[in-house]
Amino acid sequence: MDPPSKSWSIHTRSEIIAKYQILERVGAGAYADVYRGRRLSDDLIVALKEIHDYQSAFREIDALQILQGSPNVVVLHEYFWREDEDAVLVLEYLRTDLATVIDDAKKKKNGLPVGEIKRWMMQILCGVDSCHRNMIVHRDLKPGNLLIGDDGILKLADFGQARILGEPGFDTSEENPQTYEHDGSSLQAGSGNQEQGTVLREEYFRVLDELKTKRSAEDIDKDTNIPDGNTSCLATCTTSDIDDDPLKSSFSYEAREDEGEEAGCLTSCVGTRWFRAPELLYGSTNYGLEIDLWSLGCIFAELLTLDPLFPGTADIDQLSRIINVLGNLDEKAWPGCSKLPDYGIISFSKVENPPGLEACLPNRSPDEVALVKKLVCYDPAKRATATELLHDKYFNEEPLPVPVSELHVPLNRKGEDENSPWHDYNYMGSDSDLEDFGPVNITKTGTGFSIQFP
Ligand code: ADP
Repeated sequence: MDPPSKSWSIHTRSEIIAKYQILERVGAGAYADVYRGRRLSDDLIVALKEIHDYQSAFREIDALQILQGSPNVVVLHEYFWREDEDAVLVLEYLRTDLATVIDDAKKKKNGLPVGEIKRWMMQILCGVDSCHRNMIVHRDLKPGNLLIGDDGILKLADFGQARILGEPGFDTSEENPQTYEHDGSSLQAGSGNQEQGTVLREEYFRVLDELKTKRSAEDIDKDTNIPDGNTSCLATCTTSDIDDDPLKSSFSYEAREDEGEEAGCLTSCVGTRWFRAPELLYGSTNYGLEIDLWSLGCIFAELLTLDPLFPGTADIDQLSRIINVLGNLDEKAWPGCSKLPDYGIISFSKVENPPGLEACLPNRSPDEVALVKKLVCYDPAKRATATELLHDKYFNEEPLPVPVSELHVPLNRKGEDENSPWHDYNYMGSDSDLEDFGPVNITKTGTGFSIQFP
């Protein structure tokens, strides 16, 4: 942690230092610096999050305001926001996170007790359930964003990438700062559309239910035999990507210019790669809440094994790891997948006899494997919702979830230990490089370029 320094910009904010003493900087994320502070009026210890990106600040405030009162979402005490200044959010201070819990257990070389795993999972599910009931898709669920207080209560944090589906955030208005009126801390974004939001929410769940029923019916018809696609390993990107940085930059997983969030679509370049759903890796821009459910499955698997489920070193490697476990993605595994933007241009060799998730979860019970399978599956419509999982028999069977007060809460936060695989998290926001794949043949095409893995 950095010692206090008056050079931080937060010290220049008179309205903040009038109410808070800045104690130390405790973290820095992609768009923010986070400080531990003391509220002068009552000595309450808080986190002051100074967000350097307008959209990220807006999304976080909007989502947290809607989710206030949810026991497993970080509390937003107040916020400061003026024109031409970074937003500063005053959040409850939470000392550690789930990444540290996993790291700690790994260092001690003993797995987490099942009763503790279940309690962590249930808390995460409650938090995600609150988000999804409000049609908020978090888009960056990972152990480091699941903060934990001294009392063992886990809270979802870092809503800087969150979007509210079906509400103003879903159309162009959210991307337009001037469409919102705000003066200092009185910004009331997202209000006034509750009725419309409710209708869309119901409609969303109705369609989801329909899809689930349809998929279950299709499951019965196991004779359906759709041939696998290409067997070459080919990926295609846009010309501009390769012009910029042919081997270091990523495949083009960001929304194409003409169909970005400004045009009402979502971007596919969200979330930390290891937890990113396959629809995002294939460039989807009209995904739903289900991307969080995939991340949830990856987090659960990690709690069970203490190792990341799919630690991809690049986006293609990420997809390749998934395919090597689940098998090739085809219309049988996920009806409609061939319409994904990048489906036709990224293909992998045929994986004969994929080992399945069991292979990634050795020594875990069939119920635990089944739980992860309900989330880590190709077809988003087949992923179990947080509400469904909260009623899963796994949580009502022995060993029962331990009381929150009996959870082992690490004393500090995972450090900057270079030997720890966790330090990679810092780099996972940036995208892939192709070096892991050895020589590649790159050919310019009419619309972009193609990469052939020999
Ligand atoms: P970003 O949106 O830039 O990713 P985060 O919200 O992830 O920022 O915050 C960066 C770091 O600051 C976190 O990894 C964590 O260490 C710390 N942090 C964030 N929120 C809190 C909080 N409420 N209490 C304590 N520490 C926090």
